[in-house]
Amino acid sequence: MRRTGRACSRGFLTLCLVPAGALPAQRPPPALPGRHAPGLRAVNGCAKLESMRILVVEDEKRIADFLCRGLEGAGYAVDAAATGGEAVTHIHATDYDLVILDRMLPDMDGLQVLEKIRNRKLGPPVLILSARGALDDRVKGLETGADDYLVKPFAFVELLARVRALLRRGQPTPERLQVSDLTLDCIRRKVTRGSEAIDLAPKEFGILEYMMRNKGRPLSRTMIVEHVWDMDYDGLTNIVDVYIRHLRSKIDDRFQQKLIQTVRGIGYMIEAPEKPAAQPAPEPTQV
Ligand code: CA
Repeated sequence: MRRTGRACSRGFLTLCLVPAGALPAQRPPPALPGRHAPGLRAVNGCAKLESMRILVVEDEKRIADFLCRGLEGAGYAVDAAATGGEAVTHIHATDYDLVILDRMLPDMDGLQVLEKIRNRKLGPPVLILSARGALDDRVKGLETGADDYLVKPFAFVELLARVRALLRRGQPTPERLQVSDLTLDCIRRKVTRGSEAIDLAPKEFGILEYMMRNKGRPLSRTMIVEHVWDMDYDGLTNIVDVYIRHLRSKIDDRFQQKLIQTVRGIGYMIEAPEKPAAQPAPEPTQV
């Protein structure tokens, strides 16, 4: 399904309320062989890629663009919604790790959006970002179910710290992921197979981390794209095959036990095979 979500603008904006240098430097995405999917919005290839997906609900375009740029720069996949209705549509269609929610939206109060999120059994954590900073407003926001409340104007570094704290709380993740003798250290961002250190590009790391967090679960190409890139990918999921080839060449090809499995008709899965591949029996010699 092709989504129609409004992607964040790429225009860079410097707000006076943000200290210079608060935003992480952008780096170009890793080079890919063959065709580069048009419309594929690679999260910059920084080492902080975290395979987390955030929805920014903000009607003021300057602030929305600024938030999207900053969060993408920190390695998150980011979608934007400019109205409450658009936000609800996104939230019903996508499994977000966090929602950053403005209160004063053109069509409804952000708290109404929050109520709709909280009506879902497994709604994402919500950070309200609002100019309404009176004590009553903050209390009402938290009582409605927000996980945090930050008042505008804000410093981006503080927002980012709160985002990270909420993501840690919302999805407590082990520091190390393990599949057979493959280990991924989420904190130090290192991968080893047996005793051998494996050097991965940031996007390869993001895909591998996502697969290892879902060990034994078949993941479609679309799921991988949506989790590791932004949603505006134009439906070209063959990019996943390219990255899986890269990953296999680094973590599987030289080892007898293959961990990345192709799931016919679906996509890919990482799992240790139950038994090592049996050695073929020698052909009987005919005399
Ligand atoms: Ca607003």
